[in-house]
Amino acid sequence: MKIENKTHYDTKFLRKLIYAELKDFEFVDRIRVTILYRRGNRATTGMAGFGGRNMWLYLDKAGHKINDLISTIRHEALHSQGLGHKEFAQMHEEIPEQTANEIPLKPRKPKPTAEQLVGLRYENVLKKIKDKESRLKRIQNQLKKLYKRKRYYVKKKGKGII
Ligand SMILES: [Zn+2]
Repeated sequence: MKIENKTHYDTKFLRKLIYAELKDFEFVDRIRVTILYRRGNRATTGMAGFGGRNMWLYLDKAGHKINDLISTIRHEALHSQGLGHKEFAQMHEEIPEQTANEIPLKPRKPKPTAEQLVGLRYENVLKKIKDKESRLKRIQNQLKKLYKRKRYYVKKKGKGII
């Protein structure tokens, strides 16, 4: 199972939750789950290709209930298995009440201090210098070879061959 999370919701939490729902399906190893924001007021909360290769989950930016996501995953997992709506209308299980909480957000990275920021920028400058220096060296080597070739032809011309 591969997860690509393009939202501000906690990836670790989502991975655990999704895996718990999908682990018993034979497609669990190959499925790629992409988590995106739901756009506008479209009702779609999920999408899945038959055969269990891809699944898309759409979360509300302002907050999304764990319960709702679980039922979406279960719904889409059945599509992944190749089932259509008519075939699984009665198969939805009740989702326990205690998961009515909202999906947690990604833990925030602490802002770097002014001192750390200076350090980071210094590292960045060093990296750029190193990069430019190695490019310069490469160009100097190329030039050296070209000068050598030039000398060769100048010499030939001197002998009247060219
Ligand atoms: Zn459906």
